[in-house]
Amino acid sequence: MSKKGFTTTNLHSDRSDKPEHGVLHKAIHTSVAYGYDDARELAEVFQGKRAGYNYGRQLNPTVTALQNRVTAMEDGIATAAFATGMAAIASTMLSLLRAGDHIVSSAFLFGNTNSFFGTLQTLGVEVSFVDATETAQVEEAIRENTRLVFVETIANPATQIADLAGIGQLCKERGLIYCVDNTLTSPHLFQPKTVGASLIVNSLTKYIGGHGNALGGAITDSGLYDWTNFPNIYDSYKGQDARLWGITQIKKKGLRDMGASLGPEAAHHLAVGSETLPLRMDRACANAMALAQLCEAHPAVNRVYYPGIVSHPQHARASELFRHYGSIMSIDLVEGVDCFDVLNAMETVIASSNLGDTRTLAIPVAHTIFYEMGAERRASMGISDSMIRFSVGIEDQQDLLDDFSRALDAAQESIR
Ligand SMILES: *Cc1c(COP(=O)(O)O)cnc(C)c1O
Repeated sequence: MSKKGFTTTNLHSDRSDKPEHGVLHKAIHTSVAYGYDDARELAEVFQGKRAGYNYGRQLNPTVTALQNRVTAMEDGIATAAFATGMAAIASTMLSLLRAGDHIVSSAFLFGNTNSFFGTLQTLGVEVSFVDATETAQVEEAIRENTRLVFVETIANPATQIADLAGIGQLCKERGLIYCVDNTLTSPHLFQPKTVGASLIVNSLTKYIGGHGNALGGAITDSGLYDWTNFPNIYDSYKGQDARLWGITQIKKKGLRDMGASLGPEAAHHLAVGSETLPLRMDRACANAMALAQLCEAHPAVNRVYYPGIVSHPQHARASELFRHYGSIMSIDLVEGVDCFDVLNAMETVIASSNLGDTRTLAIPVAHTIFYEMGAERRASMGISDSMIRFSVGIEDQQDLLDDFSRALDAAQESIR
């Protein structure tokens, strides 16, 4: 088939397996187990000599269709889906790493990933946290036992952008696995394969599902990493095609041992949601840009964090790599303005912790998602007490602008 655009490819990518009865939506298969007329066939499926389904913890046809869709969106070779984004990250790390290994991670990290890397440290995997906006800092942290480098595309909430291309080149030279969490950009804005990523994380809960109605996560192998260089692959997963060694171990170990499998109902919701990813994302990014410009000009706002504004430290990098600048926009308020008052004065914006929803959601960061890590670590991550993070949605732009103007004007009035 000829190569099609992102949206067309995405829309048709889960039908490559010839869906039953010609259905346009992959059916929701709820069966946990599968029957075989010939018991030998069942044995061959178990032995990996024949493609087929055996037990729902490892494989399900509805989940397989979604995996194919994510693989197509990331231009990869294979995807493993999990119950959540965190399950995808944890299952991948626990299947690939062993005690005594070392990884280098961006210090600007989704809070729960940061927490999981703390858990990894208690299990004997060393983790160095560095400022990944500079490749030199990553390079300095590399040791003899380094196996993997982990970064996010746009970090949340302060929107730092790792030196994605530079780190990709470094990992290639050093033979390291390069794991990129693409959640905040989504494959519509950016395909990490283009900067040499080996493994790509997507929390399907966020933009790909897009409606805040189902949890899910995925890890995609780009096909670029040479797994014959990786010392931790078990002999039983070394099949003929070496490109599949890593994802096979992630599926076998990750799904079988840890069991955080994606359910078929959630997979269906996520697949339907993903059909409109490009439409939603384009609109949310345009709304975020307009709101960032409004905030930048408003006297009640001390600082705006948005890669689309020229004063953002990695604006040029974002312009070069991403289709748009994302829909996460954070602000610091000026001295004397209370973030709770601003949030409570908004009518359309909802105070909520999720992101990547169709609706605009906002959260006072220091008092909620980053509360547990304490004031000192927050300060080191550049998170002020007045910071509000917005996950901008697809509402009519004027309504959002009116909401922000009203709330910020009232705040400014109160400190006159
Ligand atoms: C939300 C998120 C995750 C985790 O996804 P869940 O589906 O909530 O487990 C991982 N990485 C990033 C960047 C996220 O925003």
